[in-house]
Amino acid sequence: MDVLSNIELLDFIRKRKIKRLFLKMNDITNENVWYVTELCCCSRKHYLRVKYPWLRLKKAFENKVIFGEIFHRGIENLLGKFLGVYIEKKFNINGKDVVVKGKADAVYNNAVYEFKTTRRDLKKPKKIHEKQVLIYMELLGIKRGYLVYLNTISCDFKAFFVKKRKIDIKNLLKKYLEDGVKPEEWECRFCEYSPVCEITLFSRRSHR
Ligand code: SF4
Repeated sequence: MDVLSNIELLDFIRKRKIKRLFLKMNDITNENVWYVTELCCCSRKHYLRVKYPWLRLKKAFENKVIFGEIFHRGIENLLGKFLGVYIEKKFNINGKDVVVKGKADAVYNNAVYEFKTTRRDLKKPKKIHEKQVLIYMELLGIKRGYLVYLNTISCDFKAFFVKKRKIDIKNLLKKYLEDGVKPEEWECRFCEYSPVCEITLFSRRSHR
Protein backbone atom coordinates (compact mmCIF):
# COMPACT_ATOMS: atom_id res chain seq x y z
CA MET A 1 0.00 0.00 0.00
CA ASP A 2 1.28 3.48 -0.83
CA VAL A 3 1.53 5.65 2.22
CA LEU A 4 2.20 9.37 2.03
CA SER A 5 5.45 10.11 3.78
CA ASN A 6 5.90 13.10 6.09
CA ILE A 7 7.94 14.82 3.41
CA GLU A 8 5.22 14.32 0.78
CA LEU A 9 2.56 15.69 3.13
CA LEU A 10 4.64 18.73 4.03
CA ASP A 11 5.40 19.25 0.36
CA PHE A 12 1.71 19.09 -0.49
CA ILE A 13 0.82 21.72 2.12
CA ARG A 14 3.68 24.00 1.12
CA LYS A 15 2.76 23.78 -2.56
CA ARG A 16 -0.84 24.67 -1.70
CA LYS A 17 0.31 27.75 0.21
CA ILE A 18 2.69 28.80 -2.57
CA LYS A 19 -0.03 28.34 -5.21
CA ARG A 20 -2.41 30.52 -3.17
CA LEU A 21 0.28 33.16 -2.93
CA PHE A 22 0.67 33.21 -6.72
CA LEU A 23 -3.09 33.50 -7.18
CA LYS A 24 -3.21 36.47 -4.80
CA MET A 25 -0.19 38.25 -6.31
CA ASN A 26 -2.28 41.08 -7.79
CA ASP A 27 -3.61 41.90 -4.33
CA ILE A 28 -0.29 41.37 -2.61
CA THR A 29 1.46 43.92 -4.81
CA ASN A 30 -1.41 46.40 -4.60
CA GLU A 31 -0.70 49.12 -2.05
CA ASN A 32 -4.38 50.03 -1.86
CA VAL A 33 -5.31 46.61 -0.48
CA TRP A 34 -5.04 46.33 3.29
CA TYR A 35 -5.52 42.98 5.01
CA VAL A 36 -7.30 42.94 8.37
CA THR A 37 -4.27 41.20 9.91
CA GLU A 38 -2.09 44.12 8.74
CA LEU A 39 -4.27 46.52 10.69
CA CYS A 40 -3.32 44.61 13.84
CA CYS A 41 0.46 44.91 13.58
CA CYS A 42 3.10 47.50 12.75
CA SER A 43 2.34 49.65 9.68
CA ARG A 44 5.73 48.96 7.99
CA LYS A 45 4.71 45.40 7.13
CA HIS A 46 2.13 46.54 4.59
CA TYR A 47 4.64 48.62 2.62
CA LEU A 48 7.28 45.87 2.72
CA ARG A 49 4.71 43.30 1.59
CA VAL A 50 3.98 45.42 -1.52
CA LYS A 51 7.68 45.98 -2.22
CA TYR A 52 8.96 42.47 -1.45
CA PRO A 53 5.97 40.14 -2.04
CA TRP A 54 8.20 37.06 -2.38
CA LEU A 55 9.28 37.28 1.22
CA ARG A 56 5.86 35.88 2.09
CA LEU A 57 7.06 32.60 0.61
CA LYS A 58 9.25 32.18 3.68
CA LYS A 59 6.10 31.47 5.68
CA ALA A 60 5.33 28.36 3.61
CA PHE A 61 8.46 26.76 5.09
CA GLU A 62 7.83 27.54 8.75
CA ASN A 63 6.61 24.64 10.89
CA LYS A 64 4.24 26.75 12.93
CA VAL A 65 2.60 28.11 9.77
CA ILE A 66 2.18 24.59 8.37
CA PHE A 67 0.66 23.48 11.67
CA GLY A 68 -1.68 26.51 11.57
CA GLU A 69 -2.72 25.56 8.03
CA ILE A 70 -3.59 21.99 9.09
CA PHE A 71 -5.44 23.29 12.15
CA HIS A 72 -7.51 25.77 10.14
CA ARG A 73 -8.38 23.26 7.40
CA GLY A 74 -9.45 20.80 10.14
CA ILE A 75 -11.64 23.40 11.85
CA GLU A 76 -13.19 24.35 8.49
CA ASN A 77 -14.07 20.72 7.79
CA LEU A 78 -15.60 20.33 11.22
CA LEU A 79 -17.61 23.53 11.02
CA GLY A 80 -18.94 22.87 7.52
CA LYS A 81 -21.67 25.38 6.81
CA PHE A 82 -20.34 27.86 9.38
CA LEU A 83 -17.28 28.24 7.24
CA GLY A 84 -15.29 31.42 7.16
CA VAL A 85 -16.75 34.63 5.83
CA TYR A 86 -14.75 36.68 3.35
CA ILE A 87 -14.89 40.40 3.89
CA GLU A 88 -14.08 43.12 1.40
CA LYS A 89 -14.97 46.74 2.08
CA LYS A 90 -13.98 49.91 0.28
CA PHE A 91 -13.09 53.15 2.12
CA ASN A 92 -12.21 56.54 0.78
CA ILE A 93 -9.37 58.08 2.76
CA ASN A 94 -8.40 61.62 1.78
CA GLY A 95 -9.57 61.04 -1.81
CA LYS A 96 -7.85 57.65 -2.13
CA ASP A 97 -9.81 54.38 -2.46
CA VAL A 98 -8.58 51.72 -0.11
CA VAL A 99 -9.94 48.16 0.15
CA VAL A 100 -9.88 46.24 3.42
CA LYS A 101 -9.88 42.46 2.97
CA GLY A 102 -10.04 39.62 5.43
CA LYS A 103 -11.64 36.36 6.36
CA ALA A 104 -13.31 35.65 9.69
CA ASP A 105 -12.82 31.96 10.55
CA ALA A 106 -16.53 31.44 11.27
CA VAL A 107 -19.79 33.29 11.85
CA TYR A 108 -22.30 31.34 13.92
CA ASN A 109 -25.44 32.45 15.76
CA ASN A 110 -24.63 36.06 14.98
CA ALA A 111 -21.15 35.92 16.53
CA VAL A 112 -17.71 36.07 14.95
CA TYR A 113 -15.29 33.23 15.81
CA GLU A 114 -11.55 33.31 15.35
CA PHE A 115 -9.46 30.19 16.03
CA LYS A 116 -5.83 30.29 17.14
CA THR A 117 -3.26 27.89 18.50
CA THR A 118 -1.07 28.41 21.54
CA ARG A 119 1.45 26.48 23.59
CA ARG A 120 0.61 28.36 26.80
CA ASP A 121 -2.28 28.29 29.24
CA LEU A 122 -3.62 31.74 28.41
CA LYS A 123 -5.48 33.67 31.11
CA LYS A 124 -6.64 36.28 28.65
CA PRO A 125 -6.62 36.62 24.87
CA LYS A 126 -3.74 38.28 23.06
CA LYS A 127 -4.42 41.94 22.28
CA ILE A 128 -3.44 41.56 18.63
CA HIS A 129 -5.99 38.72 18.19
CA GLU A 130 -8.67 40.66 20.07
CA LYS A 131 -8.17 43.61 17.72
CA GLN A 132 -8.54 41.28 14.71
CA VAL A 133 -11.91 39.99 16.00
CA LEU A 134 -13.08 43.54 16.80
CA ILE A 135 -12.28 44.66 13.24
CA TYR A 136 -14.22 41.69 11.78
CA MET A 137 -17.15 42.52 14.07
CA GLU A 138 -17.07 46.15 12.96
CA LEU A 139 -16.83 45.28 9.25
CA LEU A 140 -19.61 42.67 9.48
CA GLY A 141 -21.84 44.73 11.82
CA ILE A 142 -21.86 41.90 14.39
CA LYS A 143 -21.97 42.61 18.12
CA ARG A 144 -20.46 39.44 19.61
CA GLY A 145 -17.13 37.74 19.09
CA TYR A 146 -15.13 34.82 20.46
CA LEU A 147 -11.48 33.94 20.33
CA VAL A 148 -10.95 30.20 20.62
CA TYR A 149 -7.47 28.94 21.41
CA LEU A 150 -6.36 25.33 20.99
CA ASN A 151 -3.54 24.51 23.37
CA THR A 152 -1.30 22.29 21.26
CA ILE A 153 0.32 20.72 24.35
CA SER A 154 -2.79 19.84 26.42
CA CYS A 155 -5.25 19.72 23.47
CA ASP A 156 -7.69 21.91 25.46
CA PHE A 157 -9.85 24.51 23.77
CA LYS A 158 -10.34 27.80 25.61
CA ALA A 159 -12.84 30.39 24.39
CA PHE A 160 -12.72 34.08 25.32
CA PHE A 161 -15.65 36.39 24.80
CA VAL A 162 -14.69 39.57 22.92
CA LYS A 163 -16.72 42.52 24.13
CA LYS A 164 -17.79 44.88 21.36
CA ARG A 165 -15.90 48.14 21.27
CA LYS A 166 -16.31 50.72 18.57
CA ILE A 167 -13.43 50.66 16.13
CA ASP A 168 -13.30 53.57 13.73
CA ILE A 169 -11.92 51.79 10.65
CA LYS A 170 -11.44 55.04 8.71
CA ASN A 171 -9.34 56.57 11.48
CA LEU A 172 -7.40 53.35 11.84
CA LEU A 173 -6.66 53.33 8.11
CA LYS A 174 -5.54 56.98 8.24
CA LYS A 175 -3.01 56.10 10.95
CA TYR A 176 -1.73 53.16 8.89
CA LEU A 177 -1.58 55.20 5.69
CA GLU A 178 0.70 57.63 7.53
CA ASP A 179 2.85 54.62 8.52
CA GLY A 180 2.30 55.68 12.10
CA VAL A 181 1.98 52.37 13.95
CA LYS A 182 5.14 51.15 15.66
CA PRO A 183 5.83 47.42 16.24
CA GLU A 184 5.32 45.80 19.62
CA GLU A 185 8.57 44.79 21.25
CA TRP A 186 8.25 41.10 20.15
CA GLU A 187 6.94 41.70 16.60
CA CYS A 188 10.21 42.14 14.70
CA ARG A 189 11.58 38.78 15.93
CA PHE A 190 8.81 36.91 14.09
CA CYS A 191 8.50 39.18 11.08
CA GLU A 192 9.29 37.80 7.62
CA TYR A 193 10.30 41.29 6.48
CA SER A 194 12.97 41.89 9.14
CA PRO A 195 15.88 41.16 6.68
CA VAL A 196 14.82 44.16 4.56
CA CYS A 197 13.20 46.40 7.16
CA GLU A 198 15.06 49.64 7.74
CA ILE A 199 13.71 49.85 11.30
CA THR A 200 15.36 46.57 12.37
CA LEU A 201 18.45 47.22 10.24
CA PHE A 202 18.89 50.59 11.94
CA SER A 203 18.37 49.20 15.44
CA ARG A 204 20.83 46.34 14.76
CA ARG A 205 23.46 48.88 13.66
CA SER A 206 22.88 51.13 16.67
CA HIS A 207 23.42 48.12 19.02
CA ARG A 208 26.84 47.31 17.53
S1 SF4 B 1 10.68 44.00 11.09
FE1 SF4 B 1 9.56 44.96 12.74
S2 SF4 B 1 9.30 47.11 12.14
FE2 SF4 B 1 9.91 45.94 10.31
S3 SF4 B 1 8.02 45.39 9.32
FE3 SF4 B 1 8.55 43.69 10.63
S4 SF4 B 1 7.52 44.08 12.58
FE4 SF4 B 1 7.51 45.98 11.42
